[in-house]
Amino acid sequence: MKEPGKKPSQQLSKKQLKSPIFIIIVVALILVTFQIYTVGPMAKNISYSEFKVLVKEGRVDTCQITSSLIRGNLKDEDVPQKQKEFVTARVEDPDLVKELEAQGVKFAGEYESPWIQTLFFTWIIPIAIFFLIWRFVLKGMGPAGGVMSFGKSKGKLYAQEDLKYTFDDVAGIDEAKAELSEVVEFLKTPHKFTSLGGKIPKGVLLVGAPGTGKTLLAKAVAGEAGVPFFGISGSEFVEMFVGVGAARVRDMFSQADQKAPCIIFIDELDALGKTRGINPLGGHDEREQTLNQLLVEMDGFDSNKGVIIMSATNRPEILDPALLRPGRFDRQIVVDRPDLNGREAILVIHSKGVKLDKDVDNRAIAAMTPGFVGADLANIVNEAALLAARRDKKAVGMAEFEEAIERVMAGLEKKKRLINKKEKEIVAYHECGHALIATFLKTTDEVKKISIIPRGVAALGYTLQLPTEDRYLMTREELIDRISVLLGGRAAEDLIFSEASTGSQNDLEKATEIAKKMVKYYGMSDKLGIVTFEQENRSVFFPGNFGTTKNEYSEETAREIDLEVKRIIDECFLRTKDILSKKKDLLIKLAKILMQKEVIEQKELREILDKENEENTCTDKDK
Ligand code: ADP
Ligand code: MG
Ligand code: ZN
Repeated sequence: MKEPGKKPSQQLSKKQLKSPIFIIIVVALILVTFQIYTVGPMAKNISYSEFKVLVKEGRVDTCQITSSLIRGNLKDEDVPQKQKEFVTARVEDPDLVKELEAQGVKFAGEYESPWIQTLFFTWIIPIAIFFLIWRFVLKGMGPAGGVMSFGKSKGKLYAQEDLKYTFDDVAGIDEAKAELSEVVEFLKTPHKFTSLGGKIPKGVLLVGAPGTGKTLLAKAVAGEAGVPFFGISGSEFVEMFVGVGAARVRDMFSQADQKAPCIIFIDELDALGKTRGINPLGGHDEREQTLNQLLVEMDGFDSNKGVIIMSATNRPEILDPALLRPGRFDRQIVVDRPDLNGREAILVIHSKGVKLDKDVDNRAIAAMTPGFVGADLANIVNEAALLAARRDKKAVGMAEFEEAIERVMAGLEKKKRLINKKEKEIVAYHECGHALIATFLKTTDEVKKISIIPRGVAALGYTLQLPTEDRYLMTREELIDRISVLLGGRAAEDLIFSEASTGSQNDLEKATEIAKKMVKYYGMSDKLGIVTFEQENRSVFFPGNFGTTKNEYSEETAREIDLEVKRIIDECFLRTKDILSKKKDLLIKLAKILMQKEVIEQKELREILDKENEENTCTDKDK
């Protein structure tokens, strides 16, 4: 794989050649060699005793005496000048001057100017050493860590041919794939869209549990569209030096600009995009600056040029709301855990390169692995293949798969990412409770999907209701029905297990909220009458800031409001439980189907209910 991240540092070394410090070092080296040269390797090096002999013989013409050396010229006339020169180390010799005078040698002490040496030893060498250490430290900090590369984005640019992923490599997350195919379409033929004046989404945020294939999906989009792909992780922006991250963001966008159409992919956006200003100790300045820069770049970016910014997170709830505003990551795509069919499809993809025994049944493996995500399944196939190799088998058999599942499952249970069987049962009844109440009440929206595949971060299961039309007004009956549906989950648990679980907390919160509004805002309580007790607090600047208004009613009224709210909830709960206990058989039947299939779609649910109705009418006739 190409690593363009390395390129800048190669260019840098050229830049470094021109850097002033480098020049200083070169000059210093030249000076040193020059100094050595002036001492002269040409001069003959003789010992001091030889020198004394020469003096005594009267062969010395002139000499210069320095603190450490004696340089001189011989008198000999028939030899060339070069060979007349000699040099010797000076020895402490008080009689030397007298002897020289006696022989009539012209001699001179030499004043040495030590400034070059001083400069060299006290300034240049230490500076050079510091410089080297500094560079060394920087190198250690990052792959592209040249001196000047601080602001360079560390984003990896994958060329098309390196991105071997396409949508065929992704399975089990068909909804997300379908939504992204529009993005692919745009990247392929941007003109088709822009010529009609359409605006293309700038940012797409993939939300889903770890290992569901978000990163894979982003690469597949690039591969499918055949465009370059800049990949970077959110944490790579956050460095120890203030301002570096912001410079990186700028650099990345300018690089992408040149490569358009292309995809910028910021993985693990939460590392960068946490809500600002939470830190009580003044905040993480650097991260905030980087985030601000990202927002600025996204705003200033013309999406019609063909650059799409994709991002992934498994913690959307901690993201700064500014990131999710229109014009930024306004398109959010949920990447769900795969259902039974999805898991089977993923297994097929990953076992393509693996030699499988005849007894291997992907469907059966998928059935054994509820709650597993794509990464877990890829892991299982790999583990099974390793096990088979260790056992010297020719092909991977079902036994290996079963063992691999156990291993992976044990690891996941430790990480609390799987729900156990009992929990699954509770969740199934809970969701069926919601669904049945929603179907049997008159005013409620139709159930589109019941699922016990954990979704997002908190929810263990969910029942999706589809509004049949837009609503602006709601009647009292509709509100009551809505509360009843919310309580349906808890009622079902109560009915089947005669005990409650913590899974209904969110439902109860929502139900209480509706009941409170009925009493306080809409005047729907007979007891308190047609009165509004509180202005609905909708400040433009501080939405949801409830601390600023004071209660405009007495303590007594407050108590009555609480009692009314409780009465509404209680009545709804009784009604709900009543409906469910009449339909207990159906509830159990539906829950069993759900436990097995994990997902029940609208059509299937209708079929089940119709069948039930028929049976009921038949038995009625019999009586
Ligand atoms: P995430 O980014 O959501 O944490 P990844 O995209 O990094 O997950 O997934 C890790 C690996 O798991 C992928 O490289 C792929 O091999 C496998 N994988 C995950 N989801 C899928 C999927 N839906 N289809 C096929 N393979 C998948
Ligand atoms: Mg990822
Ligand atoms: Zn619920």
